[in-house]
Amino acid sequence: MDEFAFIKQIKQATYKQSSLIKGVGDDAAIFRTHGSDVVTAVDTFVDGVHFTTHTSSFVQIGYKALSANISDMAAMGAEPKFYLVSIVIPPSLREGSLTEIYDGMKQIATKYHIDLIGGDTVSGEELVVSITIIGYVASNKARLRSDAKSDDIVFVTGTLGDSAAGLHLLTHNINENRENKQYFIHRHQMPSPRIEIALHLRHLNRVCLNDVTDGIANELREIAEASDVDIVIEDDLIPVHQNFYQFKKEQQDKWKLFGGEDFELVGTMSEDNWQELKQIAKQLKVNVTRIGHVKIKDSEDPKVFLKKHDTISDVPKDGYTHLK
Ligand code: ADP
Ligand code: MG
Repeated sequence: MDEFAFIKQIKQATYKQSSLIKGVGDDAAIFRTHGSDVVTAVDTFVDGVHFTTHTSSFVQIGYKALSANISDMAAMGAEPKFYLVSIVIPPSLREGSLTEIYDGMKQIATKYHIDLIGGDTVSGEELVVSITIIGYVASNKARLRSDAKSDDIVFVTGTLGDSAAGLHLLTHNINENRENKQYFIHRHQMPSPRIEIALHLRHLNRVCLNDVTDGIANELREIAEASDVDIVIEDDLIPVHQNFYQFKKEQQDKWKLFGGEDFELVGTMSEDNWQELKQIAKQLKVNVTRIGHVKIKDSEDPKVFLKKHDTISDVPKDGYTHLK
């Protein structure tokens, strides 16, 4: 299939967004906004670094890549509207696999009413999928990492460490019997971004948010640094799946704090809003757990502290970081 035929194949017949003026088919896409702030992010996924074809199908690779981008919108409190895909295609990739990647993206795009409005198609050495996402948020309502204040409560959605556990199950002891094995694997392969709850907090004045892509310790550190505060969390309060205890203690500790890609939301807000958040979460059938608080800095550097059986320690920078 040539590039022209490929683009024709992936082009949407109709678009969901009325604000779209021109989608796929010209030199660039055009959309119009009416007073909202435009929020945009890009994420790049490289074969062998961010995914492997041994642990995910092509549909799952596409699904997860767009899911990660949607999660960034959730973390900004923005409603995703459009995405563009730049893809590097290696000679070894089957045509069917390429279509499957787009099918995966389309699956989650349909679920969240997002339109594919453009991209770029090039050949190269290895498979790379780079997605740009665009969303809207009411003026000055984006949820910034710099918005945490001392005495805020710290909360997190869902359970943590599931994706890391799933990846472990896929790469080790694949034949070993484990409770809820498919649940953990699914959380790794096809994660759900927390858009719904993020959008239901729109009316709250101040919420600081980040999504959990590199482990909660890292995400909280980013908040602490951006807001110039210290954050204290309690080990016992970190929410994990009921079958998480079947894994080794060291693995549990590592995965729940430093495991990546759970795509849950972690944030801070005034204690006054906590009951309301719990109420909203209950309606949406999302778990939300209070895990700590924000305080004035102890020293020059903003820090994240972990309370564990009456001891309190500074959380090491152990999450996965690419520059390390
Ligand atoms: P140009 O030569 O002007 O860059 P292209 O031939 O690359 O145009 O692309 C034609 C149209 O198809 C554009 O609207 C572009 O955004 C879209 N497009 C190209 N590649 C992709 C892709 N991989 N995914 C989605 N849209 C694409
Ligand atoms: Mg082009």
